[in-house]
Amino acid sequence: MHAEIIAVGSELLTSSRIDTNSLFVTERLNELGIDVRAKAVVGDDSNDLAALFRQALDRADLVILTGGLGPTDDDVTRDVVASVLGLPMTENPEVVDRLRRRFESRKLKMPEINRRQAMVPEGAIVLDNPNGTAPGLLIVAGTRRVLLLPGPPRELKPMFERVLSEHLAPHAGSRRFYRRVLRITGRSESHVEQAAQPSYQVWRERRLPIDTTILAAFGQIELHLRVSADSRADADAILDAAARDLHLAIGPDIYSDDGRLLEQVVGDLLVAHKLSIALAESCTGGLLASRLTDVPGSSRYVERGIVAYSNRAKIELLGVDEHLIREHGAVSEPVARAMAEGIRQRAGADIGVAITGIAGPDGGSDAKPVGTVMIATAGVGEPAVRTFRFFGDREQVKFQASQAALDMVRRRLVDYHG
Ligand code: ATP
Ligand code: MG
Repeated sequence: MHAEIIAVGSELLTSSRIDTNSLFVTERLNELGIDVRAKAVVGDDSNDLAALFRQALDRADLVILTGGLGPTDDDVTRDVVASVLGLPMTENPEVVDRLRRRFESRKLKMPEINRRQAMVPEGAIVLDNPNGTAPGLLIVAGTRRVLLLPGPPRELKPMFERVLSEHLAPHAGSRRFYRRVLRITGRSESHVEQAAQPSYQVWRERRLPIDTTILAAFGQIELHLRVSADSRADADAILDAAARDLHLAIGPDIYSDDGRLLEQVVGDLLVAHKLSIALAESCTGGLLASRLTDVPGSSRYVERGIVAYSNRAKIELLGVDEHLIREHGAVSEPVARAMAEGIRQRAGADIGVAITGIAGPDGGSDAKPVGTVMIATAGVGEPAVRTFRFFGDREQVKFQASQAALDMVRRRLVDYHG
């Protein structure tokens, strides 16, 4: 079963309101193995809505429209759907009654315009709205289903849950979607794609094909795999094999295939090797320490972190030689190295990590442009230092620096057998 969603409301076309209903609806549909093929946002305009609705009806088994069921003239969804489907509408006395009682329970007289909400296309199932006046409607038109839901999320959610379990789940079959996310560092999106392409080819020809999506974010690439299967066991067998294919193709650049974030992977490696870590951060301002300590149980391995932002802090708190700073500058490989060794010794930790760089927007030079970051590690093997050049704004540079530092530690620990 394939679904399309149309969110109706001119306010959703402005920059002040976003369509969140379709996210909720999509999540619930996917849980039932119903795929959302397309979605759209349209203003309160009858012609625009009619055109979109006709298109959706051509393609999808299930079309879900949200919003525009209110009593006012700009609420056009009900009328448009009935007219496109060629269904006459009649006033439903039970709905009028329910609306009237709702107003009376608040000691109000029902405004006449609310009678519009009692208009029901021929053959439609009326869906009760305990949290508002607009009832929902479910129309079965041949092999197609059309579902109209009110716009306010607190009205839509309970109504959708009910219609899903009572009317849609019985037709959805036993197929469900199962997902797997692989997270990758150290490669560009196109390099990941190129390495994965031969596997995609093979998977596509299987009985249960795998859908893939590649998502590039700052500092990492995510590969999302999705399969539609009759059971968790079937899906796991397919997804495990697919993950193995990708591990062969991409190798240790894949840092997680089980949902774990990089800071969790590093934490687990530190626990496995019974090692402690200490951090000396300049341009990341404690972000690395923050990410590592986001992980529950990180007190087992995080010894301390110091934000050594000024030169004086680097000298006083980390024992960096002031001549080194004068000669090479605070953003330099020798200073990064000295910071990593300094924090490691002072903390008595197994591993010291240091970050120093230029997060921008000012402070760059030709030799060291904005985004230049040096990251050093000390302990557990040979000391290492690397110079990175990150793009993006201040926040993005800081994040990528923390990501690269975590990845340097990860790679060091993956190879560590001591
Ligand atoms: P009402 O009877 O309240 O008028 P309605 O079905 O006509 O119900 P709308 O008028 O379209 O709904 O929307 C009412 C409110 O619901 C909007 O102001 C907005 O806050 C919220 N809303 C509508 N559509 C969405 C959406 N797609 N995602 C999130 N919120 C929405
Ligand atoms: Mg409205």
